[in-house]
Amino acid sequence: MSPHQIDGILFDIDDTLVDTRAAFGTALATIARRYLPDVTPDQDADVVSFWRADASDHFGRYTRGEIGQVEQRMSRANELHERFGGPALDDEGFAAWDGVFDSTFREAWSAHEDVDAVLGRLLDAGLHLGALTNAATAYQTDKLERTGLADRMPLLVALDTLGFGKPDPRVFAEACRLLGTDPGRTAYVGDELDVDAAAARRAGLIGIWLDRPCARRLPVTDEEIVAAGVLVISSLDDLPGLLGI
Ligand SMILES: [Mg+2]
Repeated sequence: MSPHQIDGILFDIDDTLVDTRAAFGTALATIARRYLPDVTPDQDADVVSFWRADASDHFGRYTRGEIGQVEQRMSRANELHERFGGPALDDEGFAAWDGVFDSTFREAWSAHEDVDAVLGRLLDAGLHLGALTNAATAYQTDKLERTGLADRMPLLVALDTLGFGKPDPRVFAEACRLLGTDPGRTAYVGDELDVDAAAARRAGLIGIWLDRPCARRLPVTDEEIVAAGVLVISSLDDLPGLLGI
Protein backbone atom coordinates (compact mmCIF):
# COMPACT_ATOMS: atom_id res chain seq x y z
CA MET A 1 0.00 0.00 0.00
CA SER A 2 1.39 3.39 -0.94
CA PRO A 3 1.75 5.89 1.89
CA HIS A 4 0.01 8.42 -0.34
CA GLN A 5 -3.24 6.51 0.01
CA ILE A 6 -3.41 7.17 3.77
CA ASP A 7 -3.78 10.63 5.25
CA GLY A 8 -4.72 9.69 8.79
CA ILE A 9 -4.96 6.91 11.34
CA LEU A 10 -7.54 6.60 14.07
CA PHE A 11 -6.79 4.43 17.09
CA ASP A 12 -8.84 2.57 19.63
CA ILE A 13 -7.45 3.21 23.13
CA ASP A 14 -8.08 0.20 25.40
CA ASP A 15 -5.87 -2.79 24.66
CA THR A 16 -4.63 -1.01 21.54
CA LEU A 17 -2.62 1.94 22.90
CA VAL A 18 -3.09 1.28 26.62
CA ASP A 19 -2.50 -2.11 28.25
CA THR A 20 -5.97 -2.18 29.79
CA ARG A 21 -5.94 -5.94 30.24
CA ALA A 22 -2.93 -5.70 32.54
CA ALA A 23 -4.56 -2.85 34.45
CA PHE A 24 -7.69 -4.97 34.88
CA GLY A 25 -5.39 -7.69 36.24
CA THR A 26 -4.01 -5.34 38.90
CA ALA A 27 -7.42 -3.96 39.86
CA LEU A 28 -9.15 -7.33 39.94
CA ALA A 29 -6.38 -8.95 41.99
CA THR A 30 -6.98 -6.26 44.60
CA ILE A 31 -10.72 -6.90 44.40
CA ALA A 32 -10.19 -10.66 44.72
CA ARG A 33 -8.12 -10.34 47.91
CA ARG A 34 -10.75 -8.09 49.51
CA TYR A 35 -14.01 -9.56 48.23
CA LEU A 36 -13.46 -13.05 46.83
CA PRO A 37 -12.04 -15.28 49.61
CA ASP A 38 -12.37 -18.46 47.49
CA VAL A 39 -10.06 -17.09 44.78
CA THR A 40 -6.35 -17.82 45.17
CA PRO A 41 -3.74 -15.69 43.34
CA ASP A 42 -3.12 -18.46 40.81
CA GLN A 43 -6.79 -18.12 39.78
CA ASP A 44 -6.59 -14.37 39.18
CA ALA A 45 -6.23 -14.87 35.42
CA ASP A 46 -9.61 -16.62 35.38
CA VAL A 47 -11.15 -13.61 37.09
CA VAL A 48 -9.69 -11.28 34.46
CA SER A 49 -10.90 -13.51 31.61
CA PHE A 50 -14.40 -13.61 33.08
CA TRP A 51 -14.42 -9.83 33.50
CA ARG A 52 -13.18 -9.11 29.98
CA ALA A 53 -15.54 -11.61 28.34
CA ASP A 54 -18.55 -9.79 29.87
CA ALA A 55 -20.81 -12.65 28.79
CA SER A 56 -24.01 -10.69 29.48
CA ASP A 57 -22.72 -7.83 27.29
CA HIS A 58 -23.27 -5.12 29.87
CA PHE A 59 -20.48 -3.03 28.34
CA GLY A 60 -22.03 -3.53 24.90
CA ARG A 61 -25.33 -2.19 26.21
CA TYR A 62 -23.43 0.78 27.63
CA THR A 63 -21.81 1.49 24.26
CA ARG A 64 -25.25 1.43 22.63
CA GLY A 65 -26.48 4.05 25.08
CA GLU A 66 -28.93 1.62 26.73
CA ILE A 67 -27.51 1.81 30.28
CA GLY A 68 -25.13 4.10 32.15
CA GLN A 69 -21.55 3.58 33.26
CA VAL A 70 -22.41 2.90 36.90
CA GLU A 71 -25.11 0.38 36.00
CA GLN A 72 -22.86 -1.52 33.60
CA ARG A 73 -19.99 -1.78 36.05
CA MET A 74 -22.24 -2.66 39.02
CA SER A 75 -23.90 -5.43 37.00
CA ARG A 76 -20.51 -6.81 36.03
CA ALA A 77 -19.26 -6.61 39.62
CA ASN A 78 -22.24 -8.58 40.88
CA GLU A 79 -21.89 -11.20 38.14
CA LEU A 80 -18.22 -11.52 39.04
CA HIS A 81 -19.11 -12.02 42.71
CA GLU A 82 -21.83 -14.52 41.83
CA ARG A 83 -19.36 -16.55 39.77
CA PHE A 84 -16.42 -16.40 42.19
CA GLY A 85 -18.15 -16.42 45.57
CA GLY A 86 -18.32 -12.77 46.63
CA PRO A 87 -21.13 -10.93 48.41
CA ALA A 88 -24.07 -9.38 46.56
CA LEU A 89 -23.44 -5.62 46.26
CA ASP A 90 -26.19 -3.07 46.88
CA ASP A 91 -25.71 0.58 45.85
CA GLU A 92 -23.65 1.41 48.93
CA GLY A 93 -21.62 -1.77 48.70
CA PHE A 94 -20.90 -1.17 45.05
CA ALA A 95 -19.78 2.41 45.70
CA ALA A 96 -17.12 1.09 48.09
CA TRP A 97 -16.19 -1.72 45.67
CA ASP A 98 -15.85 0.72 42.81
CA GLY A 99 -13.69 3.02 44.91
CA VAL A 100 -11.20 0.19 45.30
CA PHE A 101 -11.49 -1.00 41.70
CA ASP A 102 -11.36 2.37 40.00
CA SER A 103 -8.45 3.84 41.94
CA THR A 104 -6.38 0.68 41.46
CA PHE A 105 -7.33 0.49 37.79
CA ARG A 106 -6.35 4.09 37.06
CA GLU A 107 -3.02 3.78 38.83
CA ALA A 108 -2.20 0.71 36.73
CA TRP A 109 -2.80 2.32 33.34
CA SER A 110 0.25 2.30 31.07
CA ALA A 111 0.87 2.44 27.35
CA HIS A 112 1.91 -0.68 25.47
CA GLU A 113 5.65 -0.79 24.83
CA ASP A 114 5.25 -0.55 21.05
CA VAL A 115 3.23 2.69 21.13
CA ASP A 116 5.84 5.40 21.65
CA ALA A 117 8.10 4.60 18.72
CA VAL A 118 5.32 3.96 16.24
CA LEU A 119 3.51 7.19 17.01
CA GLY A 120 6.73 9.07 16.38
CA ARG A 121 7.22 7.38 13.02
CA LEU A 122 3.63 8.00 11.93
CA LEU A 123 3.75 11.67 12.92
CA ASP A 124 7.13 12.09 11.20
CA ALA A 125 5.49 10.70 8.06
CA GLY A 126 2.98 13.55 8.22
CA LEU A 127 -0.06 11.49 9.13
CA HIS A 128 -2.95 12.88 11.15
CA LEU A 129 -3.57 10.83 14.30
CA GLY A 130 -6.49 10.69 16.69
CA ALA A 131 -8.39 8.43 19.05
CA LEU A 132 -11.91 7.01 18.75
CA THR A 133 -13.04 5.17 21.86
CA ASN A 134 -16.10 3.50 23.34
CA ALA A 135 -15.71 4.99 26.82
CA ALA A 136 -16.47 8.43 28.24
CA THR A 137 -14.50 11.56 27.33
CA ALA A 138 -13.43 12.47 30.87
CA TYR A 139 -12.32 8.92 31.62
CA GLN A 140 -10.34 8.51 28.42
CA THR A 141 -8.79 11.96 28.65
CA ASP A 142 -7.44 11.01 32.07
CA LYS A 143 -6.19 7.74 30.59
CA LEU A 144 -4.31 9.43 27.73
CA GLU A 145 -2.79 11.97 30.12
CA ARG A 146 -1.69 9.39 32.70
CA THR A 147 -0.10 7.24 30.01
CA GLY A 148 1.76 10.16 28.42
CA LEU A 149 -0.10 9.94 25.13
CA ALA A 150 -2.29 13.04 25.28
CA ASP A 151 0.14 15.34 23.44
CA ARG A 152 0.34 13.12 20.38
CA MET A 153 -3.08 11.50 20.47
CA PRO A 154 -6.04 13.88 20.54
CA LEU A 155 -9.25 12.27 21.71
CA LEU A 156 -11.67 12.93 18.85
CA VAL A 157 -14.74 10.83 19.56
CA ALA A 158 -15.81 9.14 22.80
CA LEU A 159 -19.01 7.44 23.86
CA ASP A 160 -20.63 10.67 25.00
CA THR A 161 -19.80 12.52 21.75
CA LEU A 162 -22.83 11.12 19.94
CA GLY A 163 -24.35 9.09 22.79
CA PHE A 164 -23.40 5.73 21.27
CA GLY A 165 -20.20 4.10 20.11
CA LYS A 166 -18.60 1.62 17.74
CA PRO A 167 -19.63 -0.35 15.71
CA ASP A 168 -22.08 2.35 14.61
CA PRO A 169 -20.66 3.82 11.36
CA ARG A 170 -21.60 7.34 12.41
CA VAL A 171 -18.85 7.47 15.06
CA PHE A 172 -16.22 6.60 12.45
CA ALA A 173 -17.60 9.28 10.11
CA GLU A 174 -17.52 11.86 12.90
CA ALA A 175 -13.95 10.94 13.84
CA CYS A 176 -12.82 11.32 10.23
CA ARG A 177 -14.57 14.68 10.00
CA LEU A 178 -12.73 15.89 13.10
CA LEU A 179 -9.44 14.41 11.90
CA GLY A 180 -9.95 16.20 8.59
CA THR A 181 -9.43 13.14 6.43
CA ASP A 182 -11.56 11.28 3.92
CA PRO A 183 -12.76 7.93 5.38
CA GLY A 184 -11.37 6.07 2.37
CA ARG A 185 -7.92 7.49 3.12
CA THR A 186 -8.13 6.83 6.86
CA ALA A 187 -7.17 3.67 8.73
CA TYR A 188 -8.66 2.51 12.00
CA VAL A 189 -6.57 0.33 14.31
CA GLY A 190 -8.17 -1.62 17.14
CA ASP A 191 -7.92 -4.87 19.09
CA GLU A 192 -11.49 -6.06 18.49
CA LEU A 193 -12.13 -7.75 15.14
CA ASP A 194 -15.83 -6.93 14.96
CA VAL A 195 -16.30 -3.66 16.87
CA ASP A 196 -13.07 -2.09 15.60
CA ALA A 197 -11.61 -3.35 12.33
CA ALA A 198 -14.67 -4.85 10.64
CA ALA A 199 -16.90 -1.97 11.75
CA ALA A 200 -14.38 0.55 10.44
CA ARG A 201 -14.33 -1.22 7.09
CA ARG A 202 -18.11 -1.15 6.92
CA ALA A 203 -17.93 2.59 7.58
CA GLY A 204 -15.63 3.03 4.56
CA LEU A 205 -12.29 3.20 6.39
CA ILE A 206 -9.34 0.83 6.11
CA GLY A 207 -9.86 -1.58 8.99
CA ILE A 208 -6.77 -2.90 10.76
CA TRP A 209 -7.12 -5.54 13.44
CA LEU A 210 -4.40 -5.51 16.11
CA ASP A 211 -4.32 -9.15 17.17
CA ARG A 212 -1.77 -9.08 19.98
CA PRO A 213 -0.48 -12.52 21.05
CA CYS A 214 -2.67 -14.26 23.66
CA ALA A 215 -4.78 -11.14 24.12
CA ARG A 216 -8.11 -11.90 22.44
CA ARG A 217 -11.04 -10.92 24.62
CA LEU A 218 -13.31 -13.46 22.90
CA PRO A 219 -12.57 -16.47 20.66
CA VAL A 220 -12.29 -15.65 16.94
CA THR A 221 -12.33 -18.26 14.17
CA ASP A 222 -10.15 -18.18 11.04
CA GLU A 223 -13.34 -18.00 8.99
CA GLU A 224 -14.42 -14.88 10.84
CA ILE A 225 -11.05 -13.26 10.21
CA VAL A 226 -11.21 -13.97 6.48
CA ALA A 227 -14.83 -12.83 6.27
CA ALA A 228 -14.02 -9.54 8.00
CA GLY A 229 -11.78 -8.54 5.08
CA VAL A 230 -9.46 -6.47 7.24
CA LEU A 231 -5.70 -6.12 7.54
CA VAL A 232 -4.17 -7.94 10.50
CA ILE A 233 -1.10 -7.06 12.58
CA SER A 234 0.18 -8.62 15.80
CA SER A 235 2.07 -5.55 17.04
CA LEU A 236 1.95 -1.83 16.36
CA ASP A 237 5.55 -2.25 15.19
CA ASP A 238 4.05 -3.80 12.04
CA LEU A 239 1.91 -0.75 11.24
CA PRO A 240 4.43 1.46 9.35
CA GLY A 241 5.46 -1.42 7.11
CA LEU A 242 1.87 -2.36 6.43
CA LEU A 243 1.11 1.18 5.34
CA GLY A 244 4.33 1.51 3.31
CA ILE A 245 5.78 4.21 5.55
MG1 LIG B 1 -10.03 -1.97 22.59
